[in-house]
Amino acid sequence: MLPEISPDKPVFLCRKNILSSQTMKPQNLLQPRPAGLYCPPGDFYIDPVRPVERAMITHGHADHARAGHGHVLATRETLDIMELRYGAGFAASRQPIGYGEPLQQDGVTVSFHPAGHVLGSAQIAVEKNGLRIVASGDYKRHPDATCAPFEPVRCDVFITERPSACRFSSIPTP
Ligand SMILES: [Zn+2]
Repeated sequence: MLPEISPDKPVFLCRKNILSSQTMKPQNLLQPRPAGLYCPPGDFYIDPVRPVERAMITHGHADHARAGHGHVLATRETLDIMELRYGAGFAASRQPIGYGEPLQQDGVTVSFHPAGHVLGSAQIAVEKNGLRIVASGDYKRHPDATCAPFEPVRCDVFITERPSACRFSSIPTP
């Protein structure tokens, strides 16, 4: 059964049979906070709406990529889009990451995977103690010659945004 869907909150889909055998609870790995989706063990946010010390950005659209963060991790294309949009000083520091390159962040493994949405767009996989959560950002599965195609990523929890034009949403079982 799908969780209740509200207009402005991400949707959390859990495979309960898998999660029940794990020690890490999803909400301890990623949790919604006023500034955005926060990872307590890694001490970073994904697509924060307020300036934060460490941000991981899924793609360059302005409702996901904002200026004023301390350190920004994103694909090179997204970093370039942010610079074009906000200027070279959009963050105190920046770090490019390629698709599929695992990165350790305080015991949390992070990797970016193509989202098929716009140039440089990525789903962000966050993993610790055998639990993997994928935060999709915006994504699409239709072919688009301007960006890498959407890549399905095996995970325990998939966080997606509700399509804004739909009153009700449903997602097929994998
Ligand atoms: Zn977008």
